Amino acid sequence: MEHPYGRCQHCGERLYAHIEGDYQCVNCDRRYTEADLETRAV
Ligand SMILES: [Zn+2]
Repeated sequence: MEHPYGRCQHCGERLYAHIEGDYQCVNCDRRYTEADLETRAV
């Protein structure tokens, strides 16, 4: 049940919902919480 959500702040790749409830970049493996993405509306 993965779907794109926002963009990685590091490399610009799309983020995918992680099973643990946060979001992960498939390119550089950085992890973001939903709050992180919302506070950085680009
Ligand atoms: Zn990335």
